Amino acid sequence: MDNPLLDFADLPRFAEVRPDHITPAVDQVLAAARATVEAITADDVPATWDAVLAPLADATEKISWVWDPVSHLNAVVNTPALREAYNSNLAKISEFYTELGQNLGLFAKVKALAASADYASLSPARRQIISHQLRDFRLSGAELPDAEKARFADIQARLSELSARFSQNVLDATDGFARYIEDVAELDGLPDDVLEMMHAAAEADGKPGYKLKLHFPFYFPVMQYANHRALRESMYHANATRAAEFGPAELDNTLLIGETLSLRDEEARLLGFANYAEVSLAPKMADSPSQVIAFLRDMAARAKPFAQRDRAELEAFARDELGLNELQAWDLAWVSEKLRVARYDFSEQEVKAYFAEQRVLDGLFAIISKLFDVDIHPQAATLWHPDARFWEVRRNGQVVAQFYTDLYAREGKRGGAWMADIRARRLLADGRLQIPVALLTCNFTAPVGDKPALFTHDEVITLFHEFGHGLHHMLTEVDELGVSGINGVEWDAVELPSQFMENFCWEWDVLSHMTAHVDSGEPLPRALFDKMLAAKNFQSGMMAVRQVELALFDMLLHAELDAKGEFMALLDAVRAEVAVNPTPAYNRLPHSFSHIFAGGYAAGYYSYKWAEVLSADAYAAFEETGHANPAVGEAFRREVLAVGGSRPAIDSFRAFRGRDPQIDALLRHTGLVASEVSAE
Ligand code: ZN
Repeated sequence: MDNPLLDFADLPRFAEVRPDHITPAVDQVLAAARATVEAITADDVPATWDAVLAPLADATEKISWVWDPVSHLNAVVNTPALREAYNSNLAKISEFYTELGQNLGLFAKVKALAASADYASLSPARRQIISHQLRDFRLSGAELPDAEKARFADIQARLSELSARFSQNVLDATDGFARYIEDVAELDGLPDDVLEMMHAAAEADGKPGYKLKLHFPFYFPVMQYANHRALRESMYHANATRAAEFGPAELDNTLLIGETLSLRDEEARLLGFANYAEVSLAPKMADSPSQVIAFLRDMAARAKPFAQRDRAELEAFARDELGLNELQAWDLAWVSEKLRVARYDFSEQEVKAYFAEQRVLDGLFAIISKLFDVDIHPQAATLWHPDARFWEVRRNGQVVAQFYTDLYAREGKRGGAWMADIRARRLLADGRLQIPVALLTCNFTAPVGDKPALFTHDEVITLFHEFGHGLHHMLTEVDELGVSGINGVEWDAVELPSQFMENFCWEWDVLSHMTAHVDSGEPLPRALFDKMLAAKNFQSGMMAVRQVELALFDMLLHAELDAKGEFMALLDAVRAEVAVNPTPAYNRLPHSFSHIFAGGYAAGYYSYKWAEVLSADAYAAFEETGHANPAVGEAFRREVLAVGGSRPAIDSFRAFRGRDPQIDALLRHTGLVASEVSAE
């Protein structure tokens, strides 16, 4: 039978994958992997790299080659049939990895290899993989007595099911909302291109007027521009109560959250940890929950005076200029945009007209080319949707990596932006080199009619961010699967290259080459850029405390909350401690907080702030030597991007920077330095 998922000759044949291909393909690779595990754990097999870990990498890589495209399709072109096949096979995949993590025969082989005379002669990358594996066996419950092992396996299976359900509920609650408005007067304030998009969406449903949705390109402009306050309020309410007890019971994530927290807590105790936060931190750069909590509280203390100033300014402006005496959650973005325009004399909409998609991509590729000595070219490939595109990365004419992009929001596609990998770099046994392949997914505004897609500056920053992850994966020079690219990189250091790349969106030499006004073709005027720059740290105090609020909630939830505790009460307490903007009592942020309940960031959301210290300090090396300096780019590529997970992130940072990370650059870049608290 010709099952495209089992064709490993080339890249996935995305367009040909049907839901009924999934089960046979998964069953086949899982059976083959089980046979391999059986064979390599036999008594007479020597505990060597070639006899044990090389065949294991081959077998598990095949599982990824089947499952990664399935996960991707499930995330970006979701259908009921695909979802059902995904869910039923996810359980089998999760079961296999739980079994593997608890396989004592395999654990014994890896321990014997680590203790063998051969060990010292292995490459640093291989030794790093072995040390990660020993750690992961312990974290997978390999050392537990049999009865507890079975319980541990049940917990893993259930957690993976809960995570998939959580994410599906958020998607369905988002997709399930629609509001049609016929009278354009109700949409007063919205920019023309947003109205056009809403009109096209209504038309597609055979309705007159305009369609409002909760997808970000629809939702956010309403919050930012709609002058009709009651409309903003009702949209805010719809968004803030997604997947909660106020909507359809089958989409309510309340019980899923409770069960997830309680199972994570039980898992941690089985493994001998005090709480799940300790489990989460075991493979990360940070040492302990208390260290992270102290870091976040320190950030909050530094940022809060600035955030309070931001809030006071916003209140004064709303009162004096807009006649709004009580600033509500649904007024924040609207008043902020008005204040921004008043103070800096430009609107996001005005900026957006300069960022047409292809021009932005060309500019991004040009800076990548200058810094890292590679070229990017479009290529033909089989794709899953007409929005998707395929590209090659070449160095000296040689293809070193490939990637896919899928940039626009649409129904059936998970929100947010992310990078995933579909192939990792690996030197094969026959001497051939397998090159890395990345998937870059965003949810930007799709083009309407024959106009190109226009990106906001924030969207441009998101694109650079995801490309930073992509470069980390694609410019690796590591030959071992387990630690090449982003594989094996500590989770709280993984945002270093991505947040690092964001900085270039504030460089005139970079930006000026990636703009052309959608109507006139003129590049971004310097005067407008100067205004953007002046506004760069607008409300940065408020943004910093918002990030700390989410991160501290996540960490305390997994470090201190009793398994039966009230997570909403904890969130209220965190907000009382760090937030400056009051939140309505009905706000159910946790119910759509997919990062920590469906995205692998549990007790890890702090990673963004943590890595921002590293990325800001790394970027300061460019500032110190002249911006976009190719020699510094080369050092960053060599010491950070190329080495991937083959050594601890702190070692890579020190090799690049020549010292330990310092927080000063982050505080300076975001305007959170004491001398500025009284300045305008
Ligand atoms: Zn990221």
